[in-house]
Amino acid sequence: MSVSVRDALRMAALYLVLSIVWLAVAGQVLDDLIENPRWHALGGHPSVLVWVLASSVLIFISRARLLSFIGLGARLRREDRERLRMAAAVFDTTLEGVLVTDSKGLIVHVNRAFMRITGYQEDEVLGQRPNKFKSGHHGPAFYQQIYAALSSNGEWSGEIWNRRKSGEIYPQWQTIRAIRDDHGAVSHFVAVFSDISAIKHSEQELAHLVHHDPLTSLPNRLLFSDRAEQALAAAQAHKRGCALLLMDLDHFQSINDGLGHPIGDQLLKRVAERLSDVLGSGLTLARLGGDEFGVLLEGCQQVGEAASVARTVIERMKTPFSFNGHRLFISVSIGISLFPHDALTAEQLLRNADSALFKAKTCGRAGYALYTEELTAHAQHRVETAGELRRALEHDELQAYFQPVHDLASGAMIGVETLVRWLHPHRGLVAPGEFIPIAERSGLIAEIDTWVLRQACQQMVRWQAEGRALEFVAVNISSRLFSQRSLYREVAKVLDETGMNPGLLEIEVTESAVMDDPEVSLEQLHRLRELGLRLAIDDFGTGYSSLLRLKRLPVQKLKIDQGFVAGLPDDEDDIAIVRVIIALARSMGMQVHAEGIEHAQQAQLLLTLECQLGQGYWFGRPMPADELMATAHAGVARHGRRLR
Ligand code: C2E
Ligand code: MG
Ligand code: MG
Repeated sequence: MSVSVRDALRMAALYLVLSIVWLAVAGQVLDDLIENPRWHALGGHPSVLVWVLASSVLIFISRARLLSFIGLGARLRREDRERLRMAAAVFDTTLEGVLVTDSKGLIVHVNRAFMRITGYQEDEVLGQRPNKFKSGHHGPAFYQQIYAALSSNGEWSGEIWNRRKSGEIYPQWQTIRAIRDDHGAVSHFVAVFSDISAIKHSEQELAHLVHHDPLTSLPNRLLFSDRAEQALAAAQAHKRGCALLLMDLDHFQSINDGLGHPIGDQLLKRVAERLSDVLGSGLTLARLGGDEFGVLLEGCQQVGEAASVARTVIERMKTPFSFNGHRLFISVSIGISLFPHDALTAEQLLRNADSALFKAKTCGRAGYALYTEELTAHAQHRVETAGELRRALEHDELQAYFQPVHDLASGAMIGVETLVRWLHPHRGLVAPGEFIPIAERSGLIAEIDTWVLRQACQQMVRWQAEGRALEFVAVNISSRLFSQRSLYREVAKVLDETGMNPGLLEIEVTESAVMDDPEVSLEQLHRLRELGLRLAIDDFGTGYSSLLRLKRLPVQKLKIDQGFVAGLPDDEDDIAIVRVIIALARSMGMQVHAEGIEHAQQAQLLLTLECQLGQGYWFGRPMPADELMATAHAGVARHGRRLR
């Protein structure tokens, strides 16, 4: 039963008035009864009697209601006190921070959680304004939106970044409510907040888990695809290129099968680390699943750039992985696809890189393949390599290596062939087969050959001075340079400047270079011969020599191409060809020299067939000058290169 104060007052007044009237009237009736104590006397006052009874009932009711109100008021006050005590307990023990300001925005209350979260004590904040906790994370518009919500709805809730006393910025989830008094005016503001930095952190962890591979912590396929799309959009906008490299470890399954998955996982982790190390930061490296990794090269304009990255990765993977007592070798195959050349969407780019990867795998693994039409890529590679070669010449990246030539009968090293090498800053040592054809097409070969010639002469002069018993140093001259009339002048100049004895220099020209334009060649060879040097025809047997012309050439040596030597001692055709070349050379009074000797049996057979000179890995590989001299003597002594 709910009784309002107004009701209670009305009851009390009624009770009072009725009681007074009742007493007055009842007094009169009693007087009458005392004077005339007969029952019928009451009959003279029937209406009075009714009135007395009715008012008694009313008095009784109003009294009952008044008493009930008095009891209720006491109960309500008791309940209020209990509620206040509970509120105070909640206020104090809640884990959420509570801050109360007055209508002017000055802090009047804070709870214990507030102090724990913010690090401030009560006396440090009472009477201050909440902007004391501002982090600077939000602009004025953010706070205006809070004021607007408070004045229109009386409430605001949302995420807000504040600053602890320590200076640390942290996120809160905060609810602010305006409290109004009986007249509807704002009397207080109550802010209740919780520290959500832990939640934020786990949100970030969750997002990391969704987008990263748990084993390697690299981005996963989802994030990689996303980044690829963004990269292509940016590339399109800025008219730039982009390359996607897809890498797959070769024969990884056999490691999993043979050594178990835990070792396979360890290897994957280490591969990821090495890839990150090789590729550096600033590009996206992802593990796309299993043993497959992806790389995004943003701003990559040229095929060569992507190919160079691929080569570096392949090279670095050659170093074995050592861990837990294992030493594991793993190679990688790479497929490359380019935007906008090969594909316009991220999905297509990935698919094309996959086709290229397949191509790389089928071409023998541990290599890379481009999705681009091979010809285009080769053309581009040629142009880029030519550019790099120019720089190589300027920066002394070329090196002269020397391969020993032995007298087959005595086993002694009697000469050397100079072979050029390119010490590329990223690719390491590059063999001439890779860059000589490019140098020939770009015209750089003349410069390279002259450089090698000078190195060879200088080295031979040094060896002579040291008393090394070498009969010759051979130098290769490309057909392109050979066809230039000025060649002999260049050679003469180098001989002159280095002080080299021309009789110790041998110039090798390929059979095809000589036979291409026999009349010009004849003149050139004669001029060179006049300088006092010796001439050899390299790779003999691969061109189409006219025996008549050969006979007229002022040449002292034929070098049997290594392709025929490779078939010795078993291939009957090769034996027949080698036999004929040796006979031909001898019949024309030329020396005969076999290249590519890799086994003792080959050397033995060549000696039996009366070939005089031999060169090949069995005797020694091409190497730097000082290394050659150090190993040559040791090699003869150790292996006994003397055949008879
Ligand atoms: P080449 O003049 O016929 O040189 C012999 C090649 O056979 C060298 O390859 C040498 O390393 C390789 N070789 C030697 N012994 C063996 C063996 O036992 N087995 C096998 N499989 N190979 C062996 P390299 O150094 O890669 O040179 C390749 C070609 O590049 C040379 O063939 C030559 O034509 C050209 N080249 C090298 N240096 C120069 C140079 O300075 N100028 C010019 N124009 N061409 C050069
Ligand atoms: Mg040669
Ligand atoms: Mg050769």
